Amino acid sequence: MATSAYTTPAARPRVLRTPAPATLEAEDVSAWFAAHKVLDRVSLTMPARQVTALIGPSGCGKSTFLRILNRMHELIGSAALAGRVLLDGEDIYDRGRRITHARRSIGMVFQKPNPFPAMSLYDNVLAGLKLNAIKATRAGKDDLVEECLTKAGLWKEVKDRLRQPGGALSGGQQQRLCIARSLAVRPRVLLMDEPCSALDPTSTRRIEETIDELKDEVTIVIVTHNMQQAARVSDTCAFFLASHGTPGVIVEHGPTDMMFNAPEDPRTSDYVNGRF
Ligand code: ADP
Ligand code: MG
Repeated sequence: MATSAYTTPAARPRVLRTPAPATLEAEDVSAWFAAHKVLDRVSLTMPARQVTALIGPSGCGKSTFLRILNRMHELIGSAALAGRVLLDGEDIYDRGRRITHARRSIGMVFQKPNPFPAMSLYDNVLAGLKLNAIKATRAGKDDLVEECLTKAGLWKEVKDRLRQPGGALSGGQQQRLCIARSLAVRPRVLLMDEPCSALDPTSTRRIEETIDELKDEVTIVIVTHNMQQAARVSDTCAFFLASHGTPGVIVEHGPTDMMFNAPEDPRTSDYVNGRF
């Protein structure tokens, strides 16, 4: 009997090709909530195939900056904005460039895991496909679910219960499900806003391993309050500060090793050594 051209998952056509990770650049980004200026001319290059950590005290604008990087702030009552955000050189705010382009190319994972609680694990992973009107065959979807859950380090734990609801997982598993859901639309950049703050140390470790494994295929920008985590996972680090009601600025940025061991600014040294 003749065998089908597509007998093994590896031989089947992919739902979406995996694009190369992109370099993301913020140029002179300033932001305001009404009259309150929260970021002042922040410039930062977040290179492809690297993990960039954003560190700094609460309220200095890290989350606002992260949302501006994929136009998410336009969803939350919006900060007014000046400056540019370039994805491999293309301004995501260019007139004529659709917001969905930015959101699809630049995925986001939040502090609090937010899978669709009543939706099955299988459908949770594929939710972004539906939102972006990406068509896929049943076999293509099966492959994509397995691939993304494997990359998020969750496949072995859940492969026999893909029909269970997302809300039935532990917090750490839910966060890994959210990472799998982000990966399914093949982003070129993944933004993570304190992804481990709500998790126990074991789950945190698993997510750090996942970040390590992902960085060759997606540029990662992570906000973290955990200095050991910043030192473990990031290649580049940027220290944000907003002192005495002034807007947030980047005090210093550079290779993580340098930021932790030989920072130029004494405030960076104080912050990374817990003297803030
Ligand atoms: P971080 O993530 O570093 O803690 P944020 O980006 O959340 O900082 O906040 C930066 C500043 O912007 C804070 O002063 C905060 O109060 C203000 N801010 C954040 N979100 C909003 C919002 N939706 N409306 C008004 N002000 C906001
Ligand atoms: Mg924040």
